[in-house]
Amino acid sequence: MDLTYSAEDEAFRAELRAWLEREVPAHGPPPPPGDWTARRAYDTAWQRKLHDAGFAGVAWPKDFGGRGLPVTQQLVYLEEYARADAPYISVNFVGMMHAGPTLIAEGTDEQRAYHLPRILRGESIWCQGFSEPSAGSDLASLRTSAVRHGDEYVVNGQKIWSTRAHVADFCELLVRTDPDAPKHRGITWLILDMHQPGVEVRPMRTIDGESHFCEVFLTDARVPVSNRVGEENDGWRVTNVTLRFERGTAFAQHIINLRSQVRQLVALARDLGAWDDLALQAQVGRLDAHVSGLWRMTQRGITEAEATGMPSPSGSAVKLRFSELTQELSELAVRVLGRLAVGGAGEGAEAAKTYLWSLQYTIAAGTSQIQRNLIAERILGMPRSA
Ligand SMILES: Cc1cc2nc3c(=O)[nH]c(=O)nc-3n(C[C@H](O)[C@H](O)[C@H](O)COP(=O)(O)OP(=O)(O)OC[C@H]3O[C@@H](n4cnc5c(N)ncnc54)[C@H](O)[C@@H]3O)c2cc1C
Repeated sequence: MDLTYSAEDEAFRAELRAWLEREVPAHGPPPPPGDWTARRAYDTAWQRKLHDAGFAGVAWPKDFGGRGLPVTQQLVYLEEYARADAPYISVNFVGMMHAGPTLIAEGTDEQRAYHLPRILRGESIWCQGFSEPSAGSDLASLRTSAVRHGDEYVVNGQKIWSTRAHVADFCELLVRTDPDAPKHRGITWLILDMHQPGVEVRPMRTIDGESHFCEVFLTDARVPVSNRVGEENDGWRVTNVTLRFERGTAFAQHIINLRSQVRQLVALARDLGAWDDLALQAQVGRLDAHVSGLWRMTQRGITEAEATGMPSPSGSAVKLRFSELTQELSELAVRVLGRLAVGGAGEGAEAAKTYLWSLQYTIAAGTSQIQRNLIAERILGMPRSA
């Protein structure tokens, strides 16, 4: 990969930097945690600004409303976005990072024409309805059923851990359409309209005191057959497309943000007079080197995705290392803070919250054990476990 920045790349950087320097402060701080209505309004308004300025979907093809930037400018975009500390993608994550890309790869012309512009403009929010109480790592054992009646599927079952489903308009929904087929062959990928009778969303409370996730109960919910993505019973293949985007390139912004997390850690240690500790300096140095290495892996993943139209299975290695590194960094911050991280306010409370939140990274989007299995089977070509 040649990641040398050209004069055009630097011109794009200047254009974006000037826009972010003006617009980020003007957009103001995010609303307080827990106010999800305000959060949705804040995030979608920012998405609209990005869209109107030509900065939404910079990696999406031009034919589908994106900017179709070359890979070097996609990287410049990530660098400048992090530098400006621009608003987190948040409620737009599923739509922008994997539902939209799945529709680009697998959707019908009608599905693309309806949904992609709405996602790019921040007019519709998506969630993911894959996991069930007895189907997480073993996702293909899902039991939510869809039975066809004429031009509709009638859906019954329960989903769990659906992030931000309480503010979502549409859901990437996996259902079982053939209960008699081998488990991977009886699944279908549907677009569920969340605003209809038979869809009940119950937010769940997590260890950090927030409600990021929901249970979704489906009782005779209706999905038009025209909302099916891919063929009936071919949903496992479509699911793997979604998961490649989710694990492959969706975390790139988070990864570049780790650089500022390292800088904040050093600043914190200095403030507390702990930076003279040579062992601490060595630990931070090691983590900083890992962050640089991970960013290189990310650049490679984005380059591969650009060349082939889809992230490769190597995304599992990036996802695995990102999850672990995030936890190591936030754990070190809590150790530097010591007892200030317990029951304190300000910096201490923030670091404790970041640490608690970091625990989810080795579970979400496929656990670390599952990523290791995928690396063994799909990258190293080792035999399947069972
Ligand atoms: C922050 C967060 C956000 C999420 N958002 C969503 C969402 O929006 N939509 C959605 O559908 N889901 C979502 N999930 C669910 C997530 O995909 C599942 O939690 C995850 O796939 C693990 O499934 P599980 O919780 O059922 O654990 P289990 O599958 O029960 O796993 C339990 C343990 O067993 C291990 N294990 C299981 N099978 C194997 C194996 N074959 N080899 C080795 N070890 C194994 C696992 O690694 C884990 O340590 C989210 C989860 C989190 C934490």
